[in-house]
Amino acid sequence: MNPTCARRSFLHTSLLAGAALATPRHLFASTPVTKPSFPVADYHVHLSPQLSIEQAVNLGKERQVQIGILEHPGPGYKIHNDADLQQYIDGLRPYPVRIGLQPVYAGWSKSFSKTVLDQLDFILMDALTLPRPEGGWLAIWQIDTMVDDAEEFMTGYTKFIEQVLTTEPIDVFGWPTFLPAPIARQYRQLWTRHRIDHIIALARARKIAIEINEVAHVPDENFIIAAKRAGLKFTFGTDARNQNAAHFYYCYQMVQKCRLTQADMFVPKRTDRK
Ligand SMILES: [Zn+2]
Repeated sequence: MNPTCARRSFLHTSLLAGAALATPRHLFASTPVTKPSFPVADYHVHLSPQLSIEQAVNLGKERQVQIGILEHPGPGYKIHNDADLQQYIDGLRPYPVRIGLQPVYAGWSKSFSKTVLDQLDFILMDALTLPRPEGGWLAIWQIDTMVDDAEEFMTGYTKFIEQVLTTEPIDVFGWPTFLPAPIARQYRQLWTRHRIDHIIALARARKIAIEINEVAHVPDENFIIAAKRAGLKFTFGTDARNQNAAHFYYCYQMVQKCRLTQADMFVPKRTDRK
């Protein structure tokens, strides 16, 4: 299956069913949220046939949210080498957006030189594409992901998160603590204090920011409060490919609940552009 389509269909299905959310969407429905008083950015927007760069910029203006565009490099996507990456960066330069990259496969950075990667404002990576011991990948965002043994899954998953946070040259950890659909409701039990503290310590060691993900409602309040206490920074991300870009509810709610301030928010490496 084309990985781009797979991601799209997951997002679509989960929005409709609310099936894979750590905190079920209906629990939030009646709680009013307001936009934080500090400047807000959506550092997880994908362009698509439903969302042109002009539309993304306009949505950002309308909603008073800075836009950060992401594209995937690697097999199944358009960016494979320095020339492709340079073309992507140059294409977005004229627009008032942050330019990011969202690698999916471990080891992706070998295909690019530092000079080109340094032109990016940020690199966000998630740990949702797990290498299988027998080869190939397990894409745990897919709604039909099977989990036979939750504890065994968590051991392997935590190991892969460890690999991403210790070896990949990234700025933001996307979709943190997301669990595949069959075990999503066991979020509180499976994300033990020990596992949470471990992830936070690893992110802290390399100053990797934590994405608060609007579509998956992760991480939860407990994780965010612990990460804030450890001095980690945060980004907000819709992972939208359509009109949902820059539209936040869960992220704003977490700002209120966890008392996040401007000082808690991630600032991209390059600050010379708007
Ligand atoms: Zn994405």
